[in-house]
Amino acid sequence: MNQEVTVVMYHYVRDLKYSRYPEIKGLDVDLFKGQLEFLAKHYNFITMEQMVDAIEKQITLPKNAVLLTFDDAYIDHFNAVFPILYNKGIQGSFFTPVRAVTEHVMLDVNKIHFILASQNDKSKIITRIYQLLDQYRKEYTLESNRYYYDKLATSTRFDTEEVVFIKRLLQVELQEDIRNLICSELFKYFVQFDETVFSRELYLNIDQIKCMCKNGMHIGAHGFDHYWLGSLSRDKQEIEIDKSLNFIKSIGGDIKYASICYPYGNYNQDTLELLEKYNFKIGFTTKVEVADLSKHRPLEIPRLDTNDLPKYA
Ligand SMILES: [Zn+2]
Repeated sequence: MNQEVTVVMYHYVRDLKYSRYPEIKGLDVDLFKGQLEFLAKHYNFITMEQMVDAIEKQITLPKNAVLLTFDDAYIDHFNAVFPILYNKGIQGSFFTPVRAVTEHVMLDVNKIHFILASQNDKSKIITRIYQLLDQYRKEYTLESNRYYYDKLATSTRFDTEEVVFIKRLLQVELQEDIRNLICSELFKYFVQFDETVFSRELYLNIDQIKCMCKNGMHIGAHGFDHYWLGSLSRDKQEIEIDKSLNFIKSIGGDIKYASICYPYGNYNQDTLELLEKYNFKIGFTTKVEVADLSKHRPLEIPRLDTNDLPKYA
């Protein structure tokens, strides 16, 4: 009985040749199409409903099952991904941070992407961050610049030390208020673009999400504010989860198959308990592995990145 599922994670999927920000590390649409052809040859596409039923009712999955997931509600998912999947009869699962699509604000995660993409020389961004930390140190009782750099700067399989420092500091290390403030200042300084306009260009809108849902795509939770859930108090996590679920209901999603993908792959024991309380059936992490339903817990399903699989143009 097959219990293995290759869950593939995508973020930006765009026509990179014509992109205003070529440094944004997206998957080119042609490579995406090529990857789908590769998957169609060697795998069997399944739906979120099939995966949840396999967990709950022990229904057998096809051999070499693959599930496609798309994070962060980028407009790419409507313009580029949805038409291709729809025409091929493949379901995609789209994890939507609620605030980005309902309030037309830029999530810090994306502000940081575009701040980084705006400067080749990352030390210029760090210099500006240090100036801002100096400016706000007293008011927000911040640590020294050196303290943050020594604590946070380590390279990963995707990013240099400098980039990891910038991301970690602005995603999770600083308190929410000062983090948001510094992200906004850096966005204004380096990207120099109106946030509301930018956000409407970057994210899906509610009508697009409803349309995708009505046409067989799965819409899952990805938090309200796209915060590291494990860094929040239990009460704050509950608000994030409750608002996410209400959003899915509001766009016509079927909460019998409620799913979540953890922003930054981050969660803790409180998260898992709350998701059980709210009847979530499945949760996706960023742990890199082929999922095995006989081994992985339903709320801790690992995924492969698109870059871990072959891509052909
Ligand atoms: Zn995300």
